[in-house]
Amino acid sequence: MSKKPDSPDVTEVMGQPEEENEDIGAQFYREHLRQLERSLGEVEIEDHVQLVLSEPKNEVIVNFPVRLDDGRYELFTGYRIQHNNIMGPYKGGMRYHHDVTLDEVKALAALMTYKCALLEIPYGGAKGGIRINPHEYSHREKEAITRRFTHDLGHNIGPDYDIPGPDMGTNSQTMVWMMDTYMNMQGMNDKNAKRRVVTGKSLASGGSRGREKATGQGVIYCIQEWANENGLRLDGATFMLQGYGNVGSNAAQILTRMGAELVAVQDHTGAIYNPEGIYPRKLAQWVNEQGGVQGYEGAQALEAEEFWAVECDICIPAALELQIDADVAQRLNCQVVVEGANGPTTVEGDAVLQERDIDVVPDIMANAGGVVVSYFEWVQNKRSERWQLQEVDSRLHYKMKMAYHEMRAFAREHAIDNRTAALAVALDRVNQVYVERGIFP
Ligand code: NAD
Repeated sequence: MSKKPDSPDVTEVMGQPEEENEDIGAQFYREHLRQLERSLGEVEIEDHVQLVLSEPKNEVIVNFPVRLDDGRYELFTGYRIQHNNIMGPYKGGMRYHHDVTLDEVKALAALMTYKCALLEIPYGGAKGGIRINPHEYSHREKEAITRRFTHDLGHNIGPDYDIPGPDMGTNSQTMVWMMDTYMNMQGMNDKNAKRRVVTGKSLASGGSRGREKATGQGVIYCIQEWANENGLRLDGATFMLQGYGNVGSNAAQILTRMGAELVAVQDHTGAIYNPEGIYPRKLAQWVNEQGGVQGYEGAQALEAEEFWAVECDICIPAALELQIDADVAQRLNCQVVVEGANGPTTVEGDAVLQERDIDVVPDIMANAGGVVVSYFEWVQNKRSERWQLQEVDSRLHYKMKMAYHEMRAFAREHAIDNRTAALAVALDRVNQVYVERGIFP
């Protein structure tokens, strides 16, 4: 791969988004384009491929009514953005969060294209979601919202076309409702094949062993590689977490089993701190019962500003995008940021981290464990098989390790940061396929 001397400015090709009065989604999309632009300077990507990748292939928006428990009707807006499918069926999570916007989902869908390419998973990239606060709806209401959304997406999803999975605010129950709705719509023959319409299902309903913890497990495999490279002993190391949901709580439990200590956690309810170590299983139980980390008895409360400055070896953002800006990056007191979340660091944040010699394992690498085991689930459904946990974990470990070292080799060869390298490796793979296949007709 040779460096392209004068690659076109991607923001020119893609149009410069507005900077004033931007919502979080628009900012996130702009940040993504800026990161992409840096990587485009490192690999030779055909202009027409850049053009294709500059916008999602399909943007599906559905508005649908649902009757709530009190008899009122509410109109919901659901999104499914299909960024690219040159490498395989569209693949990506469904997010239920009150900040979901079209731009946010566009950025997340593009990241999925590059994540799957980096991990060599035969999928393209997609993402979807509904702009709701899931905490405000009852179990029955969430079921009705999910089923009606799935119904209205209709043929826009399918086991070989576009395969949703869980993301923020959704879980295996959400996926099972989606699967059941889809199967009822499509007819009940060929059940194993149709289950593949979603991944991240519960074990009972056709999910894979190890999927629940897969993203957290993948984060830890990356931490192990980083620790080996940088001489950090995980036994006795300290770490902090933003987000204590699927990714955060699983990462915490695995890393503490290796001897590391969780010293601080922040979620949407507040921040907590204990230099002696927080017991992750107890905290998970507390969060399950109380809805958040606030008030947990095994730690002291912490102000938001103090949280990021906590001294530790490893910082794992596992909540929202755009959390580590220049200011937060200046306050961090760790050796490495390992991105469980998608897009948690801004371009300015990255620059400060580099300046301060704080390493980053970027999102498309660090949190890829989820999509890798989703792919394993899809393969198991296709073959009517059920793999043992050990097999899932060892296949995941291999995939994460390979991709991690490909990213590191590219970063070293080009003397660039890991994020730019990870995106460049992915872009190069997508480009190669476009060059070989050409553009129809
Ligand atoms: P989740 O819904 O299970 O948990 C989200 C966590 O974020 C919760 O602890 C919540 O309290 C916290 N949070 C929300 N708003 C916050 C705020 N303003 N400040 C601090 N914390 C806040 O979600 P998840 O599945 O763990 O996903 C977390 C991140 O990981 C997201 O960026 C998601 O895209 C990414 N991710 C998830 C998966 C997966 O398999 N679930 C895979 C890859 C990437």
